[in-house]
Amino acid sequence: MLHHKPLHVILYLLGIVALSVVYSCEGEPIEETSEDRPPNVVIMFVDDLGYGDLGIYGHPTIPTPNLDRLAREGQRWTSFYVASGVCTPSRGALLTGRLPIRLGLAYNETARRVFFPDSGGGLPLSEITIAEVLKEKGYATAAIGKWHLGHLPQYLPTQQGFDSYYGIPYSNDMDATGTGWKLEKFFEPPNINYWNVPLMEDDKIIERPANQHTITKRYTEKGIEFIKQNQDQPFFLYLAHNLPHTPLFAAEEFLNTTKRGLYGDVVAEVDWSAGQITNTLLELGLAENTLFVFTSDNGPWLLMNQTGGSAGLLKDGKGTTWEGGMRVPGIFWWPGKIKPAIQTGIGSTLDLLPTIAALASSNLPQDRAYDGYDLAPALFEGKASPRDHMLYYRRDEVCAVRLGPHKVHYITETEYHRDNQYTIHDTPLLYNVEVDPSEKFNIAEDHPEVLEKVKALVEKHKTTVKPVPNELAKKL
Ligand code: MG
Repeated sequence: MLHHKPLHVILYLLGIVALSVVYSCEGEPIEETSEDRPPNVVIMFVDDLGYGDLGIYGHPTIPTPNLDRLAREGQRWTSFYVASGVCTPSRGALLTGRLPIRLGLAYNETARRVFFPDSGGGLPLSEITIAEVLKEKGYATAAIGKWHLGHLPQYLPTQQGFDSYYGIPYSNDMDATGTGWKLEKFFEPPNINYWNVPLMEDDKIIERPANQHTITKRYTEKGIEFIKQNQDQPFFLYLAHNLPHTPLFAAEEFLNTTKRGLYGDVVAEVDWSAGQITNTLLELGLAENTLFVFTSDNGPWLLMNQTGGSAGLLKDGKGTTWEGGMRVPGIFWWPGKIKPAIQTGIGSTLDLLPTIAALASSNLPQDRAYDGYDLAPALFEGKASPRDHMLYYRRDEVCAVRLGPHKVHYITETEYHRDNQYTIHDTPLLYNVEVDPSEKFNIAEDHPEVLEKVKALVEKHKTTVKPVPNELAKKL
């Protein structure tokens, strides 16, 4: 057919062929060695651990030597955010790379904040999780720990790309027995019989109430077993500890081991777990081909007093759109691949799916909006984070926005479960959270141009949000 085409077209086509050859010789696509095996991924996601609760993030009496070392050997992010200040929406966002409002996981007057044992909804099956992205690429996948994205059979991890599931399907303070959910129960000596939560294996309940004293240890052992069993193929382990969410439980060998009391003992066991998992990767020679991420689903539950965590110098905690509610520890570890650094740029759990998909050479579907960025330049090349802003949703409203060093508040609300004071700010509040991380000094009057810029950003964002059925409003 070539002879029918004009000469310049033929030359053009020959040029493409020539370029392709050059590319193939110099690029990596044609090499088919064992080095092409996509990396393993381990995400350790803990519950209600605050920004200030690890040694390396400044806690004076909680020793976390394992996480401290992983942070020093890898990257410790100091502006790492979740997409919601409470469990369910935060988890949905991490696994899908999409804001909870897009997933039907944003609460409002008719829908509760998170799923409960009498909830009928779940993360919609039309959503694509990290597990589904990696499954397509031949990964073995396991979810261990807290799920909280629908406990009915049709919503369990095994329906969302995970080969197996082992864990308590929602929060460890649900299914309250006797007189029900009472704050005093959290301050008494730990008693598993106050919370009749199930422990599940795939879609079967295998223990009830779950023995929470040993749950962190058992999740860890299951994780190690999964890694060992799948060491010869790419794998994805999503290890979502139920703790240190209250009620607090720790294995006997961790009790009374820290000066911080029971909360410190529980975090020490979580730290031990991170050490066990990463040491297993090292022993099996897998560490240099594994991305390990550690983070928390939201800030500390301040209502729990001394049995809850701390956001350090950040304001407020869980459930709010103040920094303490949504800025969490973010540690990335991958020996030989990640450039050791303290990252002060903005990052989010929303970025994990795009980052991991790129590592596995998976193209994201074009039929939906994503809210994350591939963090590769920051993680592997020592460049700035590609993310320059963060939206802080509470309910189905954008309550605050961070853009660079600035943070604008449109609506503020006091802490989750305390006397809710919902305030709409006709003149938004503005803080420079790099200069003033505790959000103490409102500088709105001095920077009207920042308010304008952020307003435009929010308006543009809103045009991308389409209404979806609210899963949190569905009852059994
Ligand atoms: Mg939580």
